[in-house]
Amino acid sequence: MSSFLSGRFSGIEAYVPGEQPQDRSYVKLNTNESPYPPSPGVLAAINSAEVARLNLYPDPDTRSAALAISGALGLGPENIILGNGSDELLAFAFQAFCDAKTPAVYADITYGFYSVYARINCVESRVLPLDDTLRLVPSDYYGAGGTVFIANPNSPTGRAVPLAGIEAIIRGNPGNVVVVDEAYAAFGAESAVPLIAKYDNLIVVHTMSKSKNLAGARVGYAMARSELIADLNTMKFSFNPYNMNRLSLLAAEAAINDSDYYEECVAKIVSSRERAVLALYGRMFDVLPSRANFLFAKPSFGSGRDYYLGLKERGVLVRHLPQERIKDYVRITIGTDEQMDALLAATDDMMGKNR
Ligand SMILES: *Cc1c(COP(=O)(O)O)cnc(C)c1O
Repeated sequence: MSSFLSGRFSGIEAYVPGEQPQDRSYVKLNTNESPYPPSPGVLAAINSAEVARLNLYPDPDTRSAALAISGALGLGPENIILGNGSDELLAFAFQAFCDAKTPAVYADITYGFYSVYARINCVESRVLPLDDTLRLVPSDYYGAGGTVFIANPNSPTGRAVPLAGIEAIIRGNPGNVVVVDEAYAAFGAESAVPLIAKYDNLIVVHTMSKSKNLAGARVGYAMARSELIADLNTMKFSFNPYNMNRLSLLAAEAAINDSDYYEECVAKIVSSRERAVLALYGRMFDVLPSRANFLFAKPSFGSGRDYYLGLKERGVLVRHLPQERIKDYVRITIGTDEQMDALLAATDDMMGKNR
């Protein structure tokens, strides 16, 4: 830290992304990326003709991609804003809808960025604990008294709140915005997108990083009634009007047009997930029911941290989070069946078994 950093950020702790070590090649199951490549249409769209246009700014209104994505979800282009990853849109939502009188409200165990965005925007957080089984209790959020952020399915638990619970939270907070972060919804949760027409306080956020195999392109989008989208656009145009680069815009639009390919990838991941759950049960792990592309699992032997370290030594990366309530668990991204077999082989090696 330099002596020049503004005093309002003293002691600030930045978000820590999952490690991306370069020292050797790992079976990488720690950042919830897809193990599968982008669709053929995406590979074709990122072409040299567009590269040759990189001297020109991209469309600040992202019209073509916005029309394609909103249309596919039954919305209008006035109901969507694209972001440089959904993280950027979440940041805009904290800026736009939280202040000294309006804290950010979110769970104690959830996406780590929410607390970081609250801190960097100098707004208070109201943290509501998940129950003993790491489940979100919707009634805890009625009259939340601030802007609500819910990851559904939640990370790192993988648990999902049924749509009726989400709708009750939206109805229970008529004077505040409710942001539903559906980064993992494609892997088995009910989406709140159909509720957008019904409620003026709902924002649904999606990303192409997980279920559209595009983590490296940085594409997310937020959907809401046009008034809320206008507020998010005020944040964007006051910060970086050209937040979406030309190549990522083409990739996003092409991905929407290749939905069959992505549905197949999601189906493969869900099937690998269910296979991995059974394999871990067979090794006496405690595994939370997952609606996402990862498992939150507690080994039957040793601590979460020891399991993480033992796997890393054996060339398999998973995510261990240090928070007290969940320190016995690791979060395991679902890869291909071959990658999951590598995880299980490393696990058996640690357990001193030869199956
Ligand atoms: C991965 C993730 C995001 C962010 O994804 P981007 O890559 O920035 O689009 C947002 N919310 C949750 C809960 C996530 O796990």
